[in-house]
Amino acid sequence: MRAAPCENGRVNPLLIEAPAAALLAAAGITAYGAVYPRSQIFGPAIWCTNSPRKLALTFDDGPNPAITPKLLDLLDRYKAKATFFLIGSFVRECPDLVKETTARGHAIGNHTELHPNLLWRNPTHVRVELRLCHNAIRDAIGAPPKWFRPPYGMRNPWVVPAARELGYRTVMWTLLPGDWREKPAEWLIPRLQPIAERAQRSAMSGSNPAAGWGDVLCLHDGSHRGLNGDRTRTLAALEHWLPRWRDLGLEFVTIDEAVRTPAS
Ligand SMILES: [Zn+2]
Repeated sequence: MRAAPCENGRVNPLLIEAPAAALLAAAGITAYGAVYPRSQIFGPAIWCTNSPRKLALTFDDGPNPAITPKLLDLLDRYKAKATFFLIGSFVRECPDLVKETTARGHAIGNHTELHPNLLWRNPTHVRVELRLCHNAIRDAIGAPPKWFRPPYGMRNPWVVPAARELGYRTVMWTLLPGDWREKPAEWLIPRLQPIAERAQRSAMSGSNPAAGWGDVLCLHDGSHRGLNGDRTRTLAALEHWLPRWRDLGLEFVTIDEAVRTPAS
């Protein structure tokens, strides 16, 4: 399988027997590797799509009975396919909503059982978090998911390898507009502007649509604090942008489609 252009296999360069200055540098690398969404230091992670024409919409922290059904209807209206990174304990509470999500053509990903910050968790705890969510999704839809997103995007040297043991590829993002914040839609809408700007630049440059990369947008249809979190601002921002993105020629794809290379 060919890797996406924005994913590579560079792995953990943590220094061994390093002098003091290098240790300080290693601390910086560790912070970068843990937090920066495009970092590949702690294992390969997908952070973009393989074409500037493809936009991957991703939604974390669901399923959410208060929002997800409305979001599914909204996505259907624009024939948009998306990827949902689900919390295992919520999947157990509303398995039918997860079934409905896959029945409508969306992809499902693992977002751990209870949404801890994995940065400080030992390998056993990381594996348990992944495995419980894995089982919850498999029980709900009859098949295990292929994609994993760490809560808060936090990785340490064993998070991505533990996900790989279960057959996952790790997915980060190009844009994280902060839709979990208690701000009005008028605040959120301009924070999604970079996607339209990139699409316009790409269209104006007349570049080959098969060259370059496209955005992976990280939004939230749920709240990790509990079921039925209010994400109406996220819906409002999408109501604003989906027709505009469509008119700019963007195609709304799942992560599967985002990294799939066209048959030649
Ligand atoms: Zn999350």
